[in-house]
Formats: sequence, C-alpha cells, structure tokens
Amino acid sequence: MSFKTLDTADLAGKRALVRVDINVPMADGQVTDDTRLRAILPTVAKLRAGGAKVILLAHFDRPKGKRVPEMSLAPLAAPLAGLVGAPVAFAGDCIGPAAKAAVDAMKDGDVLLLENTRFHAGEEKNDLDFAKALAANGDLYVNDAFSAAHRAHASTEGLAHLLPAYAGEQMRLELTALDKALGDPERPVLGIVGGSKVSTKLDLLRNLVTKLDKLAIGGGMANTFLYAQGHDVGASYCEKELAETAREIIRLAGQHNCKLFLPIDIVVAEKLAPGAAARVRALGAIDDEERILDAGPETVERLCRAMANSKTLIWNGPLGVFEIPPFDKGTVAAARYAAELAKAGKLVAVAGGGDTVAALNAAGCADDFTFVSTAGGAFLEWMEGKELPGVAALAT
Ligand code: ADP
Ligand code: MG
Repeated sequence: MSFKTLDTADLAGKRALVRVDINVPMADGQVTDDTRLRAILPTVAKLRAGGAKVILLAHFDRPKGKRVPEMSLAPLAAPLAGLVGAPVAFAGDCIGPAAKAAVDAMKDGDVLLLENTRFHAGEEKNDLDFAKALAANGDLYVNDAFSAAHRAHASTEGLAHLLPAYAGEQMRLELTALDKALGDPERPVLGIVGGSKVSTKLDLLRNLVTKLDKLAIGGGMANTFLYAQGHDVGASYCEKELAETAREIIRLAGQHNCKLFLPIDIVVAEKLAPGAAARVRALGAIDDEERILDAGPETVERLCRAMANSKTLIWNGPLGVFEIPPFDKGTVAAARYAAELAKAGKLVAVAGGGDTVAALNAAGCADDFTFVSTAGGAFLEWMEGKELPGVAALAT
C-alpha cells in the first residue's frame, strides 16, 4: 500500500491536525507509562522543524459522546510539554470557538492539544459535520495513530477525506514493519500464536494458515487443539466446544501447506500460584486435577529450531501463563532465542498484542526484536487480514 509521508509535505505555516493515540494509563492524575506519549515525538518534531502548527487530536478512554471531566486530556499537556521540550497549549474543546481561538493564537512550530474527540458523539459515528468542524482548524491531516486505525471514526478516518492526508512517522514505522512480516515477508515465515482463547483468535488463525509457511500454536489455546486430537487435558483451560473448529483449522493449514507445530510436551501443575510445583509431562499424561500451564522443553526446543530455519517470525500470544513463574519459562526461552536471532540479523522478528508485549518486556528482549507493535486491537485485526479503515483512508 502506498501513502503520503511527511517527507513530501509542504509544512511551513500550515495548520497540521495530527491524530495521535495518547490513551495512556493514568493513576491519581499521573501518567504511569508514557510509551504512547514518546511514540508521537518523531512526528511532532518533524512537523515543528518544518514550520507547521502542530494541533493534536486524540481520544481518551470511553466517554461515549459526552463531556466526562475525568476523561479530559488536560492532564497530558504538561507531560507532553516535558517530552517535546516546548510548551503545549490546551483547548477545552476539539471543535467550535474554543478550538478556533486556540488555533488562531498559534505561531509556526507551536504545539496545541485539543480536548478529547470522544466528548462528541460525532467522533465515533464518523459524522461528516463533526469531521468538517474538525477540518475547519487544519490545512492538512496527519494520522499517527495506527493503534486507533481499526476504527472508522471522524478523527481516524473521516478527516482523511476532507484534508490532504499523510501518514505520521509512527504510522509509517508500524506499516513498514508489519508489511515486512506479513505483507511481503522474507520466507520461510513462521508464526507463533498463543494466549488463552482460541475463540478470540479464530479469524487470525484462519488468515495466518493461508499466509505462513509454519505456525506454532501455544498457550491455553493449544489445549483446545490437543483435546481436539484426542489428548486428555485434565483440568486445563480448554474450549471443548471448539474442538471441531480446531480440526477445521488443522485441515485448512494442510490445504495451504502451512506446517503446524502443536505442543509435543507440556508443563502441568495442580495449582496456578507463584513457585508452584511444575512437572514436565508427555501429551495426555495428565491427572484430572492438573492443568497445562506452559509449553514443555521439547516443544520450546523444536520451536527454536523452527525459528533458526526461518527468515521471518510473527508472534502474538504467550506460550504459557507468563505472569506467574515458573510458567513463564517457555515464553521467556522462546522470546530470548528469537531476540538473539533478530539481533544477529538472522531473523526479522515482529511481535504484538498487549500481553505479548508485557511478556517480551518481562523477558527483557523487546528491544532486540525487529519491531514490537503496541497497537493491541489494530495489530490483531491486521493479523486477521482485515483492512484497517484508518490506514485505507491514507492510501494514495
Ligand atoms: P495478547 O494480549 O498478546 O493478544 P492474549 O490476551 O491472547 O495475548 O493471551 C494472554 C493470556 O493467555 C495471558 O494472560 C496468559 O496467562 C494466558 N495463557 C497462556 N497460556 C495459558 C494456559 N496454558 N492456560 C491458561 N491461560 C494461559
Ligand atoms: Mg491480551
């Protein structure tokens, strides 16, 4: 897909409406993780350097079309200013007189944060009049919020049709990395899909088996596949009603020449508690009260060999209950090996998903991955092969 980037934009003196995702976690009015704030800095810097007026548009939480004071973006102006290294003004509305007055007062290179777009019902409805009211304060539109691109909202999609539209730096980075992993990957390409539920990742599995050369299934969802193949899973988390669906995915993989890697050994325990006694077992060798909580060492070793024999890795979902050691072992070992290969330039390793990112961070190897997407829902929809409206609207 081709899109315009800021490299080709005429920025001097222009009012740039920039959709960002700064929906950061907060506690007691303080930002507890500023990853998303830092992610917008390259775009803000590029626009300021080009002499644009930087007008930030964003949502925060889910006010559902009403003004909810606790969901104001006002508390983010100061932390943003600190990171940008320049004042960040704030306007109490994203449209209307308050927004216009604040924009009119801007000088080239200034930064302004507008209030939560979701305070207006027109945002999530992608209402044309609301989008026009937003567009009234801009000469060009920049979308830097890949993580909100699976939503067709006024500020993520509608605006792109009303103003000259550009992909921001973070958007460009994300799209380029994702294309390298799944759009046009160096083969063989291996996928790892883990996590708790098959049910939330059916579309993803169905899409991946048509595109990948190999797919490893881990985590709680692997239990459903083991059960579907007739193995006892004891008291494990397992979506037994999806056994036929699991078999259908196995067949689909066969039709598309995607080699499936299901677990070949398991780690079980009676209790899911830190430091619980974990036992390595063969498939099906499980007592009624035991649960499968991690991938076994042989499974992990075979997965690492598959990585070494691949050029590209795309990973979503931990292999075990990584939050509770020792059940983090499989995920950590596989993550470290992938990071090692990526660092040595032998593997393009791309990962995404809320818990996956947390697991890679806990394993201390997120930095060595080629790319780690923090986009959550948008990343998953992209892995499902769906068109993201916010991205599609940028296409030239
Ligand atoms: P992501 O957020 O990266 O998309 P998911 O939300 O699908 O990942 O899955 C993460 C969850 O899966 C974690 O909370 C982890 O504890 C859980 N999980 C992994 N393996 C198992 C297992 N064997 N049994 C139960 N839950 C598991
Ligand atoms: Mg999750």
